Amino acid sequence: MLSNHIQNGIETARLAWSRIPDSDEPQFADDGVGLLKKNDGSAVESLDYEVIENFAYREEQAHRRRKLYVSYLLVVKWFFALLIGIFTGFAAVFINISVENFAGWKYSLTFNIIQKSYVAGFFVYVSINLVLVYTSVYIVTQFSPAAAGSGIPEIKGYLNGVDTHGILLFRTLIGKVFGSIGSVGGGLALGKEGPLVHTGACIASLLGQGGSTKYHLNSRWFNVFKSDRDRRDLVTCGCAAGVAAAFRAPVGGVLFALEEVTSWWRSQLMWRVFFTSAIVAVVVRTAMGWCKSGKCGHFGSGGFIIWDVSDGQEDYSFAELFPMAIIGVIGGLLGALFNQLTLYITTWRRNHLHKKGNRVKIIEACLVSLLTSVISFGLPLLRKCSPCPEPDPTSGIECPRPPGMYGNYVNFYCSKDNEYNDLATIFFNTQDDAIRNLFSAKTINEYSSQSLLTFLVMFYGLAVVTFGTAVPAGQFVPGIMIGSTYGRLVGMFVVKYYRKLNIEEGTYALLGAASFLGGSMRMTVSLCVIMVEITNNLKLLPLIMLVLLISKAVGDAFNDGIYEEQARLRGIPLLESKPKYEMRNMIAKEACGSGRVVSFPRVVKVPDVFSILQSNTHNGFPVIDHTRSGDPLVIGLVLRSHLLVILQSKVDFQHSPLPSDPRSGGRSIRHDSGEFAKPVSSKGICLDDIHLTSEDLEMYIDLAPFLNPSPYIVPEDMSLTKVYNLFRQLGLRHLFVVPRPSRVLGLITRKDLLIEDAENVNTLELRATSV
Ligand code: ATP
Repeated sequence: MLSNHIQNGIETARLAWSRIPDSDEPQFADDGVGLLKKNDGSAVESLDYEVIENFAYREEQAHRRRKLYVSYLLVVKWFFALLIGIFTGFAAVFINISVENFAGWKYSLTFNIIQKSYVAGFFVYVSINLVLVYTSVYIVTQFSPAAAGSGIPEIKGYLNGVDTHGILLFRTLIGKVFGSIGSVGGGLALGKEGPLVHTGACIASLLGQGGSTKYHLNSRWFNVFKSDRDRRDLVTCGCAAGVAAAFRAPVGGVLFALEEVTSWWRSQLMWRVFFTSAIVAVVVRTAMGWCKSGKCGHFGSGGFIIWDVSDGQEDYSFAELFPMAIIGVIGGLLGALFNQLTLYITTWRRNHLHKKGNRVKIIEACLVSLLTSVISFGLPLLRKCSPCPEPDPTSGIECPRPPGMYGNYVNFYCSKDNEYNDLATIFFNTQDDAIRNLFSAKTINEYSSQSLLTFLVMFYGLAVVTFGTAVPAGQFVPGIMIGSTYGRLVGMFVVKYYRKLNIEEGTYALLGAASFLGGSMRMTVSLCVIMVEITNNLKLLPLIMLVLLISKAVGDAFNDGIYEEQARLRGIPLLESKPKYEMRNMIAKEACGSGRVVSFPRVVKVPDVFSILQSNTHNGFPVIDHTRSGDPLVIGLVLRSHLLVILQSKVDFQHSPLPSDPRSGGRSIRHDSGEFAKPVSSKGICLDDIHLTSEDLEMYIDLAPFLNPSPYIVPEDMSLTKVYNLFRQLGLRHLFVVPRPSRVLGLITRKDLLIEDAENVNTLELRATSV
């Protein structure tokens, strides 16, 4: 009977998985977009966010002194939240100081050289950019492929329950930090904000697992959290910390984590995330204060993106709402177009270019760098300079600038000293300075519509082409640049036609930036708060809300947000918040795989476990026992990862084919300290590492102590919509579908779950024993 059962399982698995290689070993290969693939073609595996309440877990829970342990865990969680905030804050400061200094040196040197020769200046500018971008792409391709891109789709996937290989490794963190310095410092049309979110997530994950074992940077003291569930909470804190650090927007960071990246949220988590963001804000502020005295080179003046427009437009009239709504529509259209174009280009790259290897990726990034340098240096040369405006001592803006200086009103290829080149002011400048100039309320008529239009078209094209190159890349800053350009253009027309109103072009630039981000990323609340925090102007809140709502609605009419599109392209199976409409007419049974279920009996022979695991790639298996009358009885779910640990450690092998006492089992998934191990990842162990002797092949394993005795089960005819909601809301990995149950043991209502004191618990236990 037993071996028949196993035979059936093996046979089923063979039939269903005949195309899948025998070994489960993750022989990862680069898929061309910086994502790593397993040898079975899938790049991802799900995470176990469900608590596996096996015997060892229950025993451990029973033995812990409850109150003391809960308090200890709470303190540790807050301590980790503090550490994540501090480390992410320092990482952000380091990236910003480095980027600003590299960019500052580059522009100072170039401006000094072009005083003598524009040709020499051009070569210096191109060469510095090329070296920085080459360094970035080299680090990414040779050392940490998972650091390419922004990382937000992968982190979103992680928090949705999908583990993309390599995204939270130590080397990914290093690649992200140094790669961003190279790519942003090298002047590419990308930003460092997305990578900072990924950096925060990596820091959180590494802290949660006690450091990096591979690089001997680990400590047992930090290795407190062993479940994917706890690590998920830490990674959420890391994401919020990344945004808080990138924009110096602590509240925006919390909301970004809530709105954009997480799939599950709890109020306790909200407090911790908020605390982490606040810590980041303090760390960054302290560092900024220290740097202001000139101790950080070029960092003091630029750096963290904060474009204070608190002295900008005070009020707005009803008549202005129409052009502002138009900005929202343009943002939605251009944002959706950006998502579509980047999707096409990334798909093409993935299928044709990046398959050819790392050399092609390096050449491609260098070519994009060359193109960016040629355009940003060359186009302003073609532009005629304009005379400086009347000096305004209150504005604090100098025109003309002293020779060799960059910033606002740049004197670039002008015949006279008191002239400036408006295109160079935005194109041949650091991104932060360019945005500051575009947002500036004090510089009315600084740009001609021709220059803004040229910049818009060229930068939009560059941002599309740069997206998907093998370097760390964020889309926030390019989005702000694009949006503020057309926003300012609209502002110029409004100034022209509504002469009587007190209108400032800078306000329109800000709304344009919000609209493009809304049209591309489709976030609303978090973006709105981020925009208010970075511009320090609360009065514009209703207007930002308006353009964001319009741009999101317009963008949604065409396609999904950029992160969802990219996640899909990278093969990350995200479960979105809403089930598909068609699911209403489907039932659970219809969604199950067509093959027969691969299951285990309670006591199973060692070689059978081995061969079943070898014959398929499933990660969860029902365990079936039999009632006295011989009917099959589902007694739980066992994970592949647990089976691999049991096979490798061999301590739970037994000679007898009869069930053992569960209290004696569960040794192999415990730590030396006696602590219950989290569902051990099978990534660390593969079947090839397991060597069974002829004696082992005669042994048995009783699976009862290792299985999760209470997996989630649904009746076969439950609507798929309900199944979807259950699966997503509980963060499940496996769900059993069973025939409609014949007996009802009892009913649980809300009142049964309101356990307030020990007495109630005892009553419940009493009831349970009487049942
Ligand atoms: P994940 O990929 O989310 O980590 P998993 O590896 O356990 O989970 P897969 O093997 O990827 O699941 O599932 C692929 C298909 O196989 C699904 O359609 C699922 O219904 C089916 N399947 C999963 N586990 C079993 C099993 N034990 N027996 C038979 N079919 C299974």
